[in-house]
Amino acid sequence: MKNKTLKYFILMVTILLTTFQVGCKSEEKMVSDSTYMLGTYLQLSVWTSNEAKGMDIIKTAFERIKEIEDKMSANIDESEIGQINQNAGRDYVEVSEETSELIKKAVHYAQVTDGAFDPAIGKLVKLWGIGTENERIPSEDEIRDALSFVDYRKIEFQGENKVKLSEPEMRIDLGGIAKGYAADEVTKIMREKGIKHAIINLGGNVVTLGKKTDGSSWKIGIQDPFEPTGTHMGIIEAHDQTVVTSGNYERYFIQDDKRYHHIIDPKSGYPAENGIVSASIITNSSTDADGLSTSVYVLGLDKGMKLIESLDGVECIIITEDKKVYLSSGLTGRFQIINNSFQIVN
Ligand code: ADP
Ligand code: MG
Repeated sequence: MKNKTLKYFILMVTILLTTFQVGCKSEEKMVSDSTYMLGTYLQLSVWTSNEAKGMDIIKTAFERIKEIEDKMSANIDESEIGQINQNAGRDYVEVSEETSELIKKAVHYAQVTDGAFDPAIGKLVKLWGIGTENERIPSEDEIRDALSFVDYRKIEFQGENKVKLSEPEMRIDLGGIAKGYAADEVTKIMREKGIKHAIINLGGNVVTLGKKTDGSSWKIGIQDPFEPTGTHMGIIEAHDQTVVTSGNYERYFIQDDKRYHHIIDPKSGYPAENGIVSASIITNSSTDADGLSTSVYVLGLDKGMKLIESLDGVECIIITEDKKVYLSSGLTGRFQIINNSFQIVN
């Protein structure tokens, strides 16, 4: 083939391929549905050329989330976590591999954070009852008592998937990590079903699957901690990554002008109070991001940032009470403020 003919041939193939791609993409429509589970609002959006199939995939994903909730909720007596809690101080309970693996992961974050994250926080969470009709400020005696049963080192494992709490009043609560796990599982289902573009939003636990259909990155809004849900203070671009935020605005009550929120510091027994109002983690695994966002919230700015900088492929945005924004080193230039009352410090 002569050089000129070859060039012409390549040009034609390129044009054909481009047209074909554009043609395909334009047929992809967003299919979306929402529901309430895991104590929060969930929204799944997939882009597909087959609407019925898209709805079906979303339905399968919701069923999977329900399955995870039924296994791992500390508020359901029949759940595997419920069973471990009811047998505390007595017997080992055999649970599914995924529940046992998630407890182990939670214990891992407890070790990494020296107990700032602690899945054995259950008794304290129940005592405060934040977000439930029983929410109240417990007495100091009650807090001291509950604190003595918060210790991840007393979660015992045996054989493959047997778990036991060494003291009768200990309780496991995976609320700080289970939503991330559910988000990873949903992402897995969507990938397996051939979905190339999706946004999985489990109450602010966001996973971006692929890029947008036009090939650009998703723009994920970071909640303004001082404004109603849906008001963003900044935007981060992401694809095939998760953005998970822990904030003091998610679940709380106010008494005598003081806010009592649902992230408890296992050292004090009170809601974590160290100047942070929200911590967002950006990384590949939503399970890790969830565990880490709660961890960083409790650890505070200095220790929290140090932990994140020590981890490969993990970034964070920490917002403090005075509207200062602290970014981990990998986020420089990737996070954009849209409300100028916030100020990036580093
Ligand atoms: P959200 O559930 O709002 O996304 P988090 O991921 O930060 O927020 O999880 C908060 C939940 O984690 C609480 O509702 C409680 O169930 C649990 N929790 C609270 N404090 C801790 C802690 N120090 N370590 C582990 N889990 C915690
Ligand atoms: Mg969390």
